[in-house]
Amino acid sequence: MKSLQPKIVYSPHYNIRFLGLEKLHPFDSCKYGHAWQQLLDWFGNQLENLRITPESPVTVQELLTVHTSDYLQQLKHSFYVAKALELSELAILPYFLLEKHILKGMQLATKGTILAAEWALNNGMAVNLSGGYHHASGDKGEGFCLYCDIAIAINVLRESEVLQPEDPILIIDLDAHQGNGLERVFSLDKSVYILDMYNQNTYPQDWWATSLIDCNLPLRNRTEDKEYLALLKKHLPPFIEQVGKPKIAFFNAGTDIYKDDPLGGLSISKAGILERDKFVFHTLTEAGIPWVMVLSGGYTKESYLLVANSVAYILETWGLK
Ligand SMILES: [Zn+2]
Repeated sequence: MKSLQPKIVYSPHYNIRFLGLEKLHPFDSCKYGHAWQQLLDWFGNQLENLRITPESPVTVQELLTVHTSDYLQQLKHSFYVAKALELSELAILPYFLLEKHILKGMQLATKGTILAAEWALNNGMAVNLSGGYHHASGDKGEGFCLYCDIAIAINVLRESEVLQPEDPILIIDLDAHQGNGLERVFSLDKSVYILDMYNQNTYPQDWWATSLIDCNLPLRNRTEDKEYLALLKKHLPPFIEQVGKPKIAFFNAGTDIYKDDPLGGLSISKAGILERDKFVFHTLTEAGIPWVMVLSGGYTKESYLLVANSVAYILETWGLK
């Protein structure tokens, strides 16, 4: 690592504006753009100097490092995509429309996680203002997730020999939902270590995937700040010690732990989310571990602001000296 210099990976094409989709779905399909705009309002045009824009989507070859070709074929059918995204209304639409307006944005965001990881390895840290599709596994899309972007980034870096197969890699999954896709993808992989703290009383309740978590921290419905933060602070540092010296960490920073989130089922305040994120940023940075933050879930109209608060902290602390 040369010196610490964060970058934000973002493309306006991450945002989904299509047939009023945002009205069908709990997801703010423009969360990424709203977060970017908020940061622009706070920091002005100097922010553009800290931006990496993915120009092309993830390639089929890159997708195949994690996903099966049968699964990629299934993703060429509207009904399958509609099921994985839990939007049955999409099933009747011609596939080319879904590809153009929805899948391309997700493919670009998946590329964004690869670019963020490449940047972080050399410069300490990066945020992809999307990604964190942690429910997608090698042969299945579910829970709004089609491409397992973190796993793809890891395997692409291994294929290009930037990472060696035995290099320890850390995944810190703090989205409100269990990252079952990631756990399934890396079920046989001894170099990827997963800490997962999630609401055990909600989706996906994937028992086999639970058995694959290296540091399993299930929470009860409506867990509040004090208990949540104490558990994280107790377990993250010794888990990092146990892993050894990870070459890179991926932080799945879902904001659906927020008390008003309709899908997370937890009761974490705005201040609690910022404290969580600051704790992860500092723990990793002070241990000299390069890290990538991805957004994952967050389903309120305020979710973009929760994201922007944490990214603003990164920029103020390490980015705009
Ligand atoms: Zn979630």
